[in-house]
Amino acid sequence: MTAFIHRRRLFEELSMKEWDIPYDELKLFEVIGTGRFGTVYRGSWHGAVAVKLLHVHSLTDHCLQLDTFKHEVRAFAFTRQAAARALAHRPLPAARQPTSTSWIPPTARYVPSPSLVKLLHVNSLTDHCLQLDTFKHEVATFRKTRHENLVLFMGACMKPPRLAIVTSLCKGMTLHTHIHLRKDKFTANKSVLVAQQISQGMGYLHARGIIHKDLKTKNIFLENGKVVITDFGLFSVTKLCFGTNARGDSLGIPPGWLCYLAPELVRALRPHASLHLPFSKDTDVYAFGTVWYELLCGEYPFKGQPPEAIIWQVGKGAKQSLSNMQASRDIKDILMLCWSYRANERPDFPHLLSTLEKLPRKRLARSPSHPVHLSRSADS
Ligand code: ATP
Repeated sequence: MTAFIHRRRLFEELSMKEWDIPYDELKLFEVIGTGRFGTVYRGSWHGAVAVKLLHVHSLTDHCLQLDTFKHEVRAFAFTRQAAARALAHRPLPAARQPTSTSWIPPTARYVPSPSLVKLLHVNSLTDHCLQLDTFKHEVATFRKTRHENLVLFMGACMKPPRLAIVTSLCKGMTLHTHIHLRKDKFTANKSVLVAQQISQGMGYLHARGIIHKDLKTKNIFLENGKVVITDFGLFSVTKLCFGTNARGDSLGIPPGWLCYLAPELVRALRPHASLHLPFSKDTDVYAFGTVWYELLCGEYPFKGQPPEAIIWQVGKGAKQSLSNMQASRDIKDILMLCWSYRANERPDFPHLLSTLEKLPRKRLARSPSHPVHLSRSADS
């Protein structure tokens, strides 16, 4: 038995070596963009690549500074007493709870705030957030993938402090850029084609036992009509950074992230739970529902609402109202199924794919809810 384990470990180490790219072999050109915990460069390694260099400059810096945190909480949109209680993590007496939707649930141990979002740009990761073993484990997941709707993983630099992920370079723009920045309109037919490809890529990941954990329009590229999904399976090391302030009990919430989180994830949000959130295939399907909504409506669900209001509503099972959405019943049904409160009532991706394939195209094309004349097309 011991010999078997030893051989297996040796095999794993050897096969990891295949994917280990010496940092010196990479050429880095301009920065494409900077996310919360990594900077992506256009690079070259036997051809054009994208290199995501993870920020690991100072493992001792705190992700969340207590002073800034207190300042931000003070500026928060509810009473001083409520803020003080939130800081002390004590529930508000029922009588004192603000009546508006923007309040912190009394049992909350986290302090969600739109402003905490900014704090996540602190250029550091704590040991808590980044562990080499987790990184290697997630890289091992990444290398098992090969699908036309998934970005091609080419290798990784695994020697600290240089931790990087090398993938094929995506051309085109992300769905997020199309929808939220350029305000491109997607016709219903086009949305269906995009959704089908996302379902194909996601179905493949799930069939291989890989959960994306961060499916969102920022991580979906459109290259000449072809969908390419990025950033799968790397959530644990790159996405969340929990406060290490004096109390050690604050949670930073990345911008635009909440509306992709299924109720069971929202309910599990609390400090120190970063690596233990109950992600599952079903939580990926919930996130897909949000992408589907963005494609159809051109905006995020719960638009303009503060994080704490979203947390409260989603956590107790409320959904974005579809009453103003002019779309066919079939289209809304997909949305409602993906956003089911109970995880086991959400469809899987093969089921979603076949539902999307059966949507009547002609009827969709003629639907009055979907623009015929587009000022700008998303058919890049
Ligand atoms: P977040 O930190 O919330 O995930 P993000 O997705 O913008 O935000 P990154 O994943 O670090 O952060 O990406 C930074 C930038 O690099 C983004 O503009 C993204 O579109 C771009 N990018 C990421 N991967 C690739 C790729 N393979 N090819 C081309 N551009 C990429």
